[in-house]
Amino acid sequence: MKKERKIKMILYNTLGGTKQEFIPHEAGKVKMYTCGPTVYHYAHIGNLRTYIMEDVLEKYFRYIGYDVLRIMNITDVGHLSSDADTGEDKMLAGAKREHKTVMEIAQFYTDAFFSDTAKLNIKTPDVVEPATHCIPEFIEMVQTLIDKGYAYLSGGNVYFDTSKLDSYYVFGNMNEDELQVGVREDVTEDENKRNKNDFVLWFTQSKFEDQALKWESPWGLGYPGWHIECSAISIKHAGEYLDIHCGGVDNAFPHHTNEIAQSEAYLGHQWCPYWFHVLHLLDKRGKMSKSKGGFLTVSLLEEKGYDPLAYRFFCLQSHYRKPLVFSFENLDNTVQAYNKLVARIAKLSADGEPDLEAAKAYQEKFREALDNDLNTSLAITALYDVLKGDISDATKRYLIADFDKVLSLGLIEAAEKKAADTAPAEGVDVAKIEALIEKRKDAKAAKNWAEADRIRDELKASGIILKDSKEGTTWSIE
Ligand code: AMP
Ligand code: ZN
Repeated sequence: MKKERKIKMILYNTLGGTKQEFIPHEAGKVKMYTCGPTVYHYAHIGNLRTYIMEDVLEKYFRYIGYDVLRIMNITDVGHLSSDADTGEDKMLAGAKREHKTVMEIAQFYTDAFFSDTAKLNIKTPDVVEPATHCIPEFIEMVQTLIDKGYAYLSGGNVYFDTSKLDSYYVFGNMNEDELQVGVREDVTEDENKRNKNDFVLWFTQSKFEDQALKWESPWGLGYPGWHIECSAISIKHAGEYLDIHCGGVDNAFPHHTNEIAQSEAYLGHQWCPYWFHVLHLLDKRGKMSKSKGGFLTVSLLEEKGYDPLAYRFFCLQSHYRKPLVFSFENLDNTVQAYNKLVARIAKLSADGEPDLEAAKAYQEKFREALDNDLNTSLAITALYDVLKGDISDATKRYLIADFDKVLSLGLIEAAEKKAADTAPAEGVDVAKIEALIEKRKDAKAAKNWAEADRIRDELKASGIILKDSKEGTTWSIE
């Protein structure tokens, strides 16, 4: 008898800088935390690359049988324009820009974020928690850190004392440039800090006195630092042990480094053993970023005629641990590949039952790809192997639907739509129409425009309308 393969899921862990087997704290259950958006502007397609890859990770955990609890915060207060705790509050800057209140801005861009993620087939996390809903939890955590001697009051703010830790730079494998993310030229050193890396847990003093949202606290009227939000929200919903924490790579330092420092000081033990970081989406100018402006959004892609799922496909074709360069030319190639894929699926017959035994070898290949550090491009190769395979159409459709539980490319739905759109109406001779389209293509290639127009008119006379696009000519019934 064939021996069952013992499947291990291997993930690259930024903590330790190696690929490791993923083993959650509690058998069968994964507690996963995702840094959510700072809702002062639209999410750009770089942010969304991170959320797409995290969505695949979550869905793959579910696919292999884990019960997943996924938590995400909404940063609606405390994120200053430099990650090193200086500069203006991003939310306030957004409110000023649009002449609205901070809460109006937060609601508007939170809704916009979930509308974008829905279009990209990104599942909404089980728990979504705006930071402004958790002020008592932040205050409790900060107070405990003071009581335990890990935090101090200075100049009206509460700071975390990094000198109290044996090691602060836990992501030691990161290079100097990445560690310098928060230490930009425009940052003036905060003289209240005892050590360079200390960070603010609670602000009552900031250079920007017009901070809109403030709450009473034992240290005066103020607002939380950004880093404390994620620690407290995670502990509130996942308890003392989190299995995996995700975010874009720019979050590793200082944000995640600070999260680890304060969470472990608070809990007194290791908090989260696996850290999953998605590399950046780049454009001609480097990292796509909200603060630089000129970024691309889902609505902009839609305005230009792209289906958001083509962008999801674009992301899945490359590995999450490699920077991804965006260009419209690359996206056009993806659109063509996506349309061809859908067309091939649309041709599969929907009749018959799948052969579940025969399907297993294909599922094994799909799992091998994703078990190996979430190799989505190999998982897509496994999908093409299904289409090429010597198995029935019913088995192919079954496998595609099965893989799409993780890939979420809407393949079966798109194929059904395509099949319905191109289904021949009674009395319509599809072969004849396609032959005429081919003849017209040849005529156009030979610059015989009169013949090309004649064919168009001939088809129109029998109620068939042609539409030319970059991808070729399609037809519909008038
Ligand atoms: P923000 O809304 O700025 O707090 O960022 C939301 C998420 O997007 C975080 O996990 C960031 O690390 C991530 N992110 C920011 N810029 C990029 C980018 N160009 N490519 C991929 N992820 C990004
Ligand atoms: Zn966070």
